[in-house]
Amino acid sequence: MNKLAQLDHAHVWHPFTQMRDWLRHEPIVIAEGQGAVLRDVKGKEYLDANSSIWTNLHGHRHPKINAAISRQLKKIAHSSALGFANEPASLLAARLVEAAGAGIYDLRFAICEPKVKVTRKSKIKNRKLEKVFFSDDGSTALEVALKLAYEFSRRARSAACPSALMRKFPPRFLSLDGAYHGDTIGAVSLGHVDLFHQAYGGMLFKTDKVMSPYCYRCPFNKAKPERADAREYRKCHWECVGLVEKKFSAQQKKENPFAAFVFEPLIQGAAGMIPQPAGWLAQTAEIARNYGALLIADEVMTGFGRTGAAKAASGKRQAETLFACPHENVQPDFLCVAKGLTGGYLPMAATLTTQKVFDAFLGEYEEFKTFFHGHSFTGNQLGAAAALASLEILQTEKSVRQRALLQKNLRDELQSLWSLPNVGDIRQVGLVAGVELVKNWRTREPFALRERAGIRVCEAMAQRGVLTRPVGNVIVLLPPYCTTAAQLRKMVSALHAAVAAVFE
Ligand code: PMP
Repeated sequence: MNKLAQLDHAHVWHPFTQMRDWLRHEPIVIAEGQGAVLRDVKGKEYLDANSSIWTNLHGHRHPKINAAISRQLKKIAHSSALGFANEPASLLAARLVEAAGAGIYDLRFAICEPKVKVTRKSKIKNRKLEKVFFSDDGSTALEVALKLAYEFSRRARSAACPSALMRKFPPRFLSLDGAYHGDTIGAVSLGHVDLFHQAYGGMLFKTDKVMSPYCYRCPFNKAKPERADAREYRKCHWECVGLVEKKFSAQQKKENPFAAFVFEPLIQGAAGMIPQPAGWLAQTAEIARNYGALLIADEVMTGFGRTGAAKAASGKRQAETLFACPHENVQPDFLCVAKGLTGGYLPMAATLTTQKVFDAFLGEYEEFKTFFHGHSFTGNQLGAAAALASLEILQTEKSVRQRALLQKNLRDELQSLWSLPNVGDIRQVGLVAGVELVKNWRTREPFALRERAGIRVCEAMAQRGVLTRPVGNVIVLLPPYCTTAAQLRKMVSALHAAVAAVFE
């Protein structure tokens, strides 16, 4: 076994990994990367088909990001945001505010038979995201939003009704079934993946969950399985939206309305790459607003161009948006970003919020209204320099074209997988694809988790030179934006061959 692999086996504890299984095999030790290619210490090359767990945007060793980090290194790597500002963090905050404000459209999107009338247009302007709190990763971005929303709601309630019953209850949060928002205790409390979260039940605070619109396995979808994305052939009456309304209404009756609704817009990642049918987000956001709840958008996976270019009802391309919320004309009160923020180079996150939330924490020193939260590396210069370079690349014509082409190529290539009887659903949102493996596509019968169907397929893909990681029985393809047509073809054909080989 390679020396580095031996050291890994001796000392490294890997995340979300059964280490008994890990220790049975020599691990792939990554030595370098270039574009969409990763190379191990033995010189073997692999395609990075999940962009190094959904972080990388433009490919590895991008000359512009490398140069930006090197330039910054010549000045300083890090100084504290506790007490001092710094150049790249100030510039980045301004760029993020600008990017978050772009792409909120006036046009209504095509919403089929909407259950809830969407009338948000005029209110959007008042919710401009203009304040940025930096942290380190997706979990901390959510933790910050959670704490801010909690305290903002608590203070708002105290001011509005100092003696009311509402003051007795802590602000309560609603998130989606299957939600994953990170691994810190607050983020885990917002999560609803029993497999990951049950063990820590005693440490968590109570949140509520509501059905997520998982069309492929939705009990309200009366359609028989077809060889198409279940969103396209579903037969339902938006019962999932009705359940959201019911949840908000029931909580209101308890005189403790939800303080915030937390969601991943357009597609839930770790829940199993669950895409929302067009109109779901617009309608549920409207319901939440009508009940006075704040909106917390977790764009840790979906941010920075991942969900593709927005299309208006007329079919005309709109001003480029880097985020998922504008696709449904939703303006959240909190926008959480991480992973792709630095182009996937360095750990850095940001929570964007409104002036109104910010103002609730202003006061005289001795009032102690301060947001008592922060991390040693908040606003780190190297991360901010990488993020500025990444944002600049994202907004070039070349990158916009590259993403549009990759999105189309992905759609075309995925079609070949329908011929496999163990492929039940193929769902794509922009540059994210989930392929759900089943025992039999005609019955949608799932594999039991213990059968490790997803893991076995990914192992077979690795043997074919393509690296990705499943979420349960769902194989994820989330390629870097620089992936060429030939590389994409190889990713999909490796998946095809792996499924065929594992289940033959
Ligand atoms: N939110 C979402 C939607 C995520 O996908 C993840 C990570 N997969 C997180 C939060 C947590 O991010 P991190 O692992 O960077 O803490």
